Order: sequence, then C-alpha cells, then structure tokens
Amino acid sequence: MRIDRLETFLVAPRWLFVRIEADSGQVGWGEASLEGHSDTVRAALTQFAEYLIGRDPLTIEDHWQVLSKSGFYRGGPVLASAVSGIDQALWDLAGHHLGVPVHQLLGGAVRDRIRAYGWVGGDDPSEIADAIQAQLDVGLTAVKMNASGRMSRNGSVAELDAVVRRVAAAREVLGPNRDIAVDFHGRFTLATARRIAPLLEPFHPFFLEEPVVPENSHAIGALVTSTTIPVATGERLYSRQEFLPVLQAGIAVAQPDLSHAGGISEVRRIASLAEVYDVQLAPHCPLGPLALAACLQVGFATPNYLIQEQSIGIHYNQGAEVLDYVLDKEPLKFVDGAIERLTRPGLGIEIDEAAVRAADAKGHEWRSPVWRYDDGSLAEW
Ligand SMILES: [Mg+2]
Repeated sequence: MRIDRLETFLVAPRWLFVRIEADSGQVGWGEASLEGHSDTVRAALTQFAEYLIGRDPLTIEDHWQVLSKSGFYRGGPVLASAVSGIDQALWDLAGHHLGVPVHQLLGGAVRDRIRAYGWVGGDDPSEIADAIQAQLDVGLTAVKMNASGRMSRNGSVAELDAVVRRVAAAREVLGPNRDIAVDFHGRFTLATARRIAPLLEPFHPFFLEEPVVPENSHAIGALVTSTTIPVATGERLYSRQEFLPVLQAGIAVAQPDLSHAGGISEVRRIASLAEVYDVQLAPHCPLGPLALAACLQVGFATPNYLIQEQSIGIHYNQGAEVLDYVLDKEPLKFVDGAIERLTRPGLGIEIDEAAVRAADAKGHEWRSPVWRYDDGSLAEW
C-alpha cells in the first residue's frame, strides 16, 4: 500500500481537515486546525505531502519522526499541528485497513465511556445560570467557563470580585455533584492569578486552567503552591519536552491538544509521561469532529484520563457545528454526561465528505481577536 494523495480542507468555523488516500482506495482523515493560523498550517501540509506521496501509510511512527525532526528546524504550533493532522489521518487509515478502532491499536480499551464537559459563556451571573442549565439539559455534568474577559495587569477589587461572583453563581446552579472548571486563558499576570485563586477555593473549581501564558511556564509552580485548586495547562505546549517542566512544577491536569501536540502518537506519550507525575489528562478540544474523535480514541486506551473538552454548541462556533461534518451523529451523543466508546474502525466517526468539500469551497478567515487596554497597549485575549 502506498500513499497516493494528501488533500486539505479549510472549513468553517475555523478548522483544517486532512484527507490521505492510499493506492488501495483506503482513506484516513485527520484534523490540523490551528485556530487563527490554519492557512499557514495548510502550507506546511503541502510541503509534508512531497515526502509522504508514494510511501507506506502504515509506518506511522517513522513518518512522525521524519516530519517532526528531519527538517532541521522543528517544533512550534505550525509544524506540530501539520504533523498532528497527518498523524491522525494515518492512524485512521490504519484502523480502517485493519478493521479496528484506533484505541484497539493502542492496546485496547481501559474504559467504556469518557466524561465530557461543555463551554459556557456569559458575563452576568444570571446569564451564567442560563448557560449552565443549557449544558445540563443536553446531558452534561461538567462545564468550563472563562474566569473573566480582559483582565488588568494588576486586577482591581471590582475585577476580582466579578470573577468570584461568576464562579459562585456557577456553583450555585451546579450543586455539589457536578463540576465547574475555570479557564484563566493566560489573561492574568502571575500576581493576579495568585491573588484570585485562594478566593475561588470555597467554590471548589474542578481545575484552574492556564493561569500564566505558556512562555511563562517557568512561573507556574508559584501558582501551584499558592492554592489547593488543581492547576491545569497545556493547550499551547506542543511536545513531551514542553510538558516536562510544568509536570515537574506540580500541575494536576495536562491539556495537550491532539491537533497541536503531535497527534495521537505524541499525546499518547505525553499521557505516559504525565502518569509518572500522577497527572491526569484532559485534552484541549474546542475543535472539529476529527480532533474530538482522536482525543476520545486516546482516552479509551489511556488510564490517567480525567475528562474531555468538546465544542458541540460552543459559543464561538459560528457558521458550522461539530456535527455538521459527520454522517451519523449518534456516536457523539452524551449519555449521563459522557460519550460511549467509539467502536467503528479508525477514529470511529464517518466524515460527510460532500459537506467537507462544500465547506472548503467557501473556506474561512477566522482570526483571534486583538484586545487592548485603555492605554492602547495589547491585552491578552
Ligand atoms: Mg483554555
């Protein structure tokens, strides 16, 4: 079997899909979405295709090694996302070729279902109550929300108070048996994060996410030691090597993104490394159906797996929905807060190729917002 063709599809709302076809007719799909930079990743994929065409699609690890390391310059979100999309597509293709789901190729299932959480927006505590209720109504038992919008470099009393009131409102709706995770989104300075974290402890957040920007990962240990809330990070870390310092600093939850951190192959290894530090995985996934399916396949075969983010109904998916691109929506439905084990071959979902081709004809130009402080300087989004 030889790889005949690699195609890419830029589809709404902000995703990039990869389709690899072998000369046998076997097909694999993956997702290389890099929010705001998918066109750049598409160019990297075109270059990687030069190497892959004519080669055996089943030597997945060797392709991972060559694409990740042989270009001399390596790492970073663009190249790692391109590798991730190819890696997922090759695992999908291998699963179809062998007639088994990817988690079977990773050693078989260690669980029957994976708990999932949904996003809630809303700035006003009353909006939060409605947004959380909407997620509970679709069958979820855990949610995540941003701690705040734009946050001053040194958070004011009013800003800190607003964060506390929002989390308190969420706990009020959820009660003691459901969970609320709080995402700082890299918007807080370390000093402000340290000040706010103890104030949130009475509301028992499930975890506190990205308290510092990834380039300041060396500072995350100071936050870890200042609060009893489990600290999470990792959606902007792209390899085992980048996870090692935050694991050593004492984070509780690792959040690699299957479309940014080297795909199924590397995230499986990050999970194993995390296990050594007694850290649980909760992969980042506000992305499309292929990234979600790739996460779930790793999760079904990985013991230290806490929960799965997913973007079905997320507030910033505009123009298309996760389920718009799958033929059978049933496998991705929530049952008692979880997604049941995907049993079909490969990634375990069936892509609606006609819908993907039609969406690619329109494309998208999604970009991250640019936020500024009142003095005109750049603020973290
Ligand atoms: Mg986040």
